[in-house]
Amino acid sequence: MTRFFSTIGGRILLLVGIVNILSMASMVAFYTDQQEKTILTQHEASLNRTAETAFKGLRVLMLRGYADIAQAYANDLKKVGTIEDFRILRIDGTEAFHDNTTIQSVNQQLGTDEFQTRDEEKIITILPATDPYLNQTLRDRRRVIHTHQENGIEKLTFLMPILAEQPCYRCHDKQNPVRGVLKLTASLLSIREAIQASRAQALWVLVGCILGSLLVVGLLVRWSLVQRINQVTAAMARVAKGDFTQQIPVTGLLELSRMAESFNAMTIEVVRGYVRLTEEQNKLTTVIQSSQEAVVVTNSAGEVVLINPAAERILEKSPEQLVHDGFLAVVDDPDYVKSFIERSGEGMPDTLVYKNRVLNFYAATICNNQDQPIGSAALIRDVTQEKQLEEKLRLMSYTDKLTGLYNRRRMEELLEREYDRARRYSLSLSILFFDVDHFKKFNDTYGHDMGDKVLEIVGQTAKSHYRNIDYACRYGGEEFCIILTDTDERGAFLAADRFRQRLEATDLGNGIHVTCSIGVVTFPGVVCDGWEAFLKLADNALYMAKRQGRNRVIQWQPGMPTEE
Ligand code: GH3
Ligand code: MG
Ligand code: MG
Repeated sequence: MTRFFSTIGGRILLLVGIVNILSMASMVAFYTDQQEKTILTQHEASLNRTAETAFKGLRVLMLRGYADIAQAYANDLKKVGTIEDFRILRIDGTEAFHDNTTIQSVNQQLGTDEFQTRDEEKIITILPATDPYLNQTLRDRRRVIHTHQENGIEKLTFLMPILAEQPCYRCHDKQNPVRGVLKLTASLLSIREAIQASRAQALWVLVGCILGSLLVVGLLVRWSLVQRINQVTAAMARVAKGDFTQQIPVTGLLELSRMAESFNAMTIEVVRGYVRLTEEQNKLTTVIQSSQEAVVVTNSAGEVVLINPAAERILEKSPEQLVHDGFLAVVDDPDYVKSFIERSGEGMPDTLVYKNRVLNFYAATICNNQDQPIGSAALIRDVTQEKQLEEKLRLMSYTDKLTGLYNRRRMEELLEREYDRARRYSLSLSILFFDVDHFKKFNDTYGHDMGDKVLEIVGQTAKSHYRNIDYACRYGGEEFCIILTDTDERGAFLAADRFRQRLEATDLGNGIHVTCSIGVVTFPGVVCDGWEAFLKLADNALYMAKRQGRNRVIQWQPGMPTEE
């Protein structure tokens, strides 16, 4: 029942019912009240007329001298209609015609025995002399009507004064202006019953009208409102279950047809949006599935829900294993993944080595428009080949193509670094700067290609001759530079001279040999301003070696002449 009244139809019926009951009940109450008043007034008027008639009849009897039959007349009146009691009272409230007091006084006034006295006398008090209605009748000398209860029955009583008139004075004295009072009592029982019956009828009519109006309103509401709303609700429920093709007829009341129009427009727009969304999803799925980058995505509960083929390949795990191990164990290091996600606001991918691969790893929490987390995603790129290529390029940029030694640019970087280190930590540092002797002539004699081959052999010899912690570099042309870390003057000289001898002894093919001149400089023990000046000193020593006849090692000494 409560459920019924919480529906639109139930609520409208309830309101209509309340309004109907209030308005019709007040109408019926007013109507029955008016009817009751009318019935009572008519009844009173009818009684009034009866009383008037009785009074007139009695007056005629009295004036004609038939007072002795007045009592019989009064008794007969009791049988009329609703009249219950009719009495002729004296002004003291006692009933007339039951004793000889009046007869005697009349006979005395007439001086005859015109009226015969009664054999049996009795005093019947109908109203006490103090009765207020009686006294009001006597005082006002006009009719007094009042209602009263008697044995639980409502009664109407008329008190009508019998005024003393000129003809009365023949028999009666003039002492009292009122000779007596006619008392007429009628029961209101039948009237009340009639009113009750009328009320009951009105009540039934009221109930009938209310039920009828409720039925009509209910049917109208159901037909024009509830059915249409139910239609829209059912269509909405089907939309909620994913059937976006719902359309409802645009009919009925203005507001409802507008609602239907809006609903239809909404579903059309939803279908369009759904199609667009599906297209975008398909594109995205294609991109993710064909991506070379590993993609692993979780739902809001942290369960892995998306793994693309690249993820299986790069991580070397099956989808089942990835789902089973969970998102945090994607690269077998849950603490790392967790900490990455926590600092993912910083945004840059990490590089890590996983199963002999170099991976670029990125992970982040995915949030919705309300900034609530709805999952996590990891994007992992295999950059092993890129890193290898990068390393290759780095080496190439450091290396001289012909000899495989460090090139001049790298030599300068290394020398700068080692020179600074030696100065800061007071370490020994030596440079051997050497140049192939008469190489121009060698080229001229054996050809440029043979010259290149010799340079290649010189480079390989230098590389194999020196320690791993030394740096063998090609300075340019047939000039080479060896940086000897932690090497003092003596060590540097010995290393240089051994190399000179080794090169001299190396057979370049067909008994061909080359020699070289070497300049050596060692830190500390020199005063110079930076690595460039330090290198220049080695170049000076080389110059001296050339000047002194070539195929020799010259250690730079303070005061040594410089190359012009
Ligand atoms: P010196 O003993 O005074 O050094 O005499 P040199 O002939 O070596 O004189 P210089 O240093 O002036 O000559 C360098 C020559 O080295 C010039 C050039 O023909 C040759 N040369 C320089 N770079 C290369 C190279 O990459 N390949 C070949 N084959 N020859 C080169
Ligand atoms: Mg040279
Ligand atoms: Mg030379």
